[in-house]
Amino acid sequence: MKYKVLYRKYRPNDFENIIGQDYIIKTLKNSIIHNNISHAYIFSGPRGTGKTTTAKVFSKAINCLEPIDGSPCGKCAFCTNFQENPDIIEIDAASNNGVDEIRGLIENIKLAPTNGKYKVYIIDEVHMLSTSAFNALLLTLEEPPAHTIFILATTNIESVPITILSRCQRFDFQKIKIVDIVARLKEICKIENIAIDEEALKEIAYLAEGGMRDALSLLDQLSKSEEKITLDLIEKQIKTISQKGINDLLQTIEDNDINRCLELINEYRNRAVDYKSLVKKIIEIISEKAKNFKRNGQYSRLQFTDYKNLIFSLADSLNKININVDSYTILEMILLEYFNEDDSKLKINKENTKVIAEETQNEEINVEVKPENHIDEDVSNDNLEKFIEIRINNCFVEAKKSYLENAKKEFNDYILTSNNGKIKSTLEDSDVVAASSKYVILKTSNKHNVDSSNKMSLEIEKSLKKAIGKEYKLVFIDDDRWKDEKEKYILNLKNKKVYEYIEEDSNLLETKTVLNDVFDKDKIEIV
Ligand SMILES: [Zn+2]
Repeated sequence: MKYKVLYRKYRPNDFENIIGQDYIIKTLKNSIIHNNISHAYIFSGPRGTGKTTTAKVFSKAINCLEPIDGSPCGKCAFCTNFQENPDIIEIDAASNNGVDEIRGLIENIKLAPTNGKYKVYIIDEVHMLSTSAFNALLLTLEEPPAHTIFILATTNIESVPITILSRCQRFDFQKIKIVDIVARLKEICKIENIAIDEEALKEIAYLAEGGMRDALSLLDQLSKSEEKITLDLIEKQIKTISQKGINDLLQTIEDNDINRCLELINEYRNRAVDYKSLVKKIIEIISEKAKNFKRNGQYSRLQFTDYKNLIFSLADSLNKININVDSYTILEMILLEYFNEDDSKLKINKENTKVIAEETQNEEINVEVKPENHIDEDVSNDNLEKFIEIRINNCFVEAKKSYLENAKKEFNDYILTSNNGKIKSTLEDSDVVAASSKYVILKTSNKHNVDSSNKMSLEIEKSLKKAIGKEYKLVFIDDDRWKDEKEKYILNLKNKKVYEYIEEDSNLLETKTVLNDVFDKDKIEIV
């Protein structure tokens, strides 16, 4: 038996099986029912979305002797001989600019159809016609004989001259939805006895980018391996990475897991995954995340601006792939910008605890410190925000320039003498911007460090107390936040608003570990 590629075998012969273009199909059927047929149509849209198929079914329906509800009957002489019908003329403009075909068309156009009511000219990829072919076509479109219908199809509507467009009824074909492609693939796999899992179905639909023809070609290619089609098989056979693979990569940023990120990039590099399609997919997924962030305000380490900048950097990297540098190096550098060095150092819990233990050794004997991984545990975002709000407010109660100058000097001295690298680098990355006798606001130079710095504040406070004998309460904020807070403060001063202390509630933070750490002086348990 001759093997027929799936997309040919399952090409719809009727309107009912054309997927994802319901509005267009409905309109076309109605035009047949009401005998309201135009002489020129243009079908535009991405490849594989059913333009040519629809054109063929439509040309069958308009000639069908007994159409049923706008659809071809499939039984009449015209329907059954459709494939060999000389009145349906297909021209592929992509193959040779179409000049000869258009000339032939003009010569024969006056001749009446041999079988049906209409002669139908289907011109595929019409935007590829040469200028002279367009001009010839235009003359015909201006005064078409009553028995002719033109159906022009294009994947690039912008390149079709407006003079042509203005003479056509236009239909824009949409990319087919992933669920619709999955459903159709499922049906076909069942009929063809192709073993495939659900994840793989989704991945094929995703890779096909809304085109049924591409989805079926992929399925064809994959089914030849005669293994069950899985995500692994897809990644192996088609040099691509799955949506899941990209989500895993992006998750490393959320988790601030630099090593895993570099590991994954290296994997893609070694597998020679096409850089362009990889980056395009990353951009798609990030833009979804960015939109969700704006719509739902979901919490993530990255903010909307980060997503936006990331997208621009990635898009920009596509222009650099022809220069003589490994494209993946560019990807590494772009992604690494969104990791936070300090956060990852925090994960080295033992070191943390050692430092604290050493610093308190003189005061307490036999100290056992709770594992510091509390600090990494989630402090609820709301509570962290409240913590920041309260401390900013409390600082402003008595903020004075003289306190600020003092604090600046004290912090500088502390940085010079401290030998705790982690605290030192946190403070070096921050500026003291406001101070009272009890509170200090620090502005971090890297906004990704705000959360981790605040979570470290108790540790820093203890160390400060030991070194300079002051019991400051600290709060870290980023540049934008400081600008806002400063403006608010100045406005409040003008309006004579009086700041009052807000009590620091130790139940504020969900995970008692961190909150207690921050507010409870007895952080270290004595055995
Ligand atoms: Zn028929």
